[in-house]
Amino acid sequence: MTADTGRWIRNFVDGRFIEPDENHSFDNIDPATGLVHASVHEADATLVDRAMTAARRALGPWSATPVRERTAVLRRAADLVEERFEEFVSAESADTGKPVSLARELDVARAIANFRTFADVVAAAGQESFLTDLPGGHHALNYAVRKPLGVVAVIVPWNLPLLLLTWKVAPALACGNAVVVKPSEETPGTATLLAEVLADAGLPAGLYNVVHGFGGGSAGEHLTTHPGIDGVTFTGSSATGAHVMRTVAPRVRPVSFELGGKNAAIVFDDADLEETLTGLTRSVFANTGQVCLCTERVYVQRSVFADIADGLVERAHTLRLGSPLDEATTTGPLISQKHREKVRGYFELAERSGAKILTGGGVPDMGAELAGGSWIEPTLWTGLTNKDRVVREEIFGPVAALIPFDTEEEAIALANDTDYGLAASVWTRDLRRGHRVAQAMNVGMAWVNTWFLRDLRSPFGGVGLSGIGREGGESSLHFYTEPTNVCVHL
Ligand code: NAD
Repeated sequence: MTADTGRWIRNFVDGRFIEPDENHSFDNIDPATGLVHASVHEADATLVDRAMTAARRALGPWSATPVRERTAVLRRAADLVEERFEEFVSAESADTGKPVSLARELDVARAIANFRTFADVVAAAGQESFLTDLPGGHHALNYAVRKPLGVVAVIVPWNLPLLLLTWKVAPALACGNAVVVKPSEETPGTATLLAEVLADAGLPAGLYNVVHGFGGGSAGEHLTTHPGIDGVTFTGSSATGAHVMRTVAPRVRPVSFELGGKNAAIVFDDADLEETLTGLTRSVFANTGQVCLCTERVYVQRSVFADIADGLVERAHTLRLGSPLDEATTTGPLISQKHREKVRGYFELAERSGAKILTGGGVPDMGAELAGGSWIEPTLWTGLTNKDRVVREEIFGPVAALIPFDTEEEAIALANDTDYGLAASVWTRDLRRGHRVAQAMNVGMAWVNTWFLRDLRSPFGGVGLSGIGREGGESSLHFYTEPTNVCVHL
């Protein structure tokens, strides 16, 4: 099966690619050059309804399929992505502008791991059961039967398109659900390639559908307002999450939300300087700062503030911006001109708020070939406080504010002084303090002396504006299934 019709990225409904419609399409732009590299067929409400109908029809037989057969499809999908590895790398890099080296190391590798991990997790899952004592020496047996949630709407953003998509699709399918997927309008490529892979892996028609388009008034809204959805799993901004929540509220559908972050790092004066600088450089600048887990607030104990600031500036200067196809490139552009305008707005606001710019703060000269891309300079500020908007709002770019602190209590209070609660990292050689401070963070994930190190069986998610619920390992099973408890009087 193949999706490639030259310049079209097509919708995938009920096991086949849909003929595109010239009158309902939008451009897919390469963020590195600003050039159009494909046309995307925008799904209208009728096509979304067809996808929902196909999913509903396919759901019954799939949920009755033995777990070992369902997980075998996931394992074959992992093998097929591995076989087509470089094709996925190229598609992801073309859509996002990220360096091919990063797409290889992170995005495509994690997609394969997602399929394999959730095949293992679902294959090994048991059921809860309780033997209940009753008066008179009688007993009752309670056991829970996990059933699929049903037809699940999967809505994902543009920053890690394939990674975040497979993180949801793999457990959903393994648990016996059908999915209708709405990738970001910026990055439709790999979700479409995945349709080929899943079909080739033997997934029956109707279980994985892809509808392309935007949010409001387009495929996103057609999907979330559809009366047939049994649940929504969404990764994206907190504002869109709140909107989707209102949309599904009248039908009381479960939601799983992985939303924005304004993540803190806390650096104590006993931290290993080199290890900390390496970790901070990744956590501030990885994927051009466009990872929900990226650090945008760095709290540094005053006695090492200058060392950390100087070291981080030095590391920022070693980042290599350039063509995503160049193996030596470490840092790509932002996703779009629109997003760059937003990030530049925060650059201006930081200056107006009295920030001292240690490095960056502008738009780099990338030469004629890349002049149309949405490039931005890696940027570091001092001189700001938790009161400033740029320290409170998610920027989602390669930028961080460095703020000094004196005591452990002060550091914890500063890090927790936020409406978000996704991730934090703590840097210290004192392991007791590392545990203590990590546990005190009001976040879903806290790291000690590392960042973005993930075991896919552990829970992932956030508190506050950063989300609702957890996914990963058992937590995914809880979202993608509904238990029916059976009580038998013995
Ligand atoms: P976004 O909220 O603008 O869009 C996310 C998805 O929702 C896209 O597919 C979009 O088309 C769709 N959408 C938009 N409006 C909609 C509507 N009214 N109805 C239905 N769907 C709609 O987010 P983005 O700009 O694509 O992604 C960046 C955001 O995602 C950042 O805030 C980032 O922190 C967050 N994010 C969070 C995580 C996490 O795991 N917590 C991971 C990655 C990204």
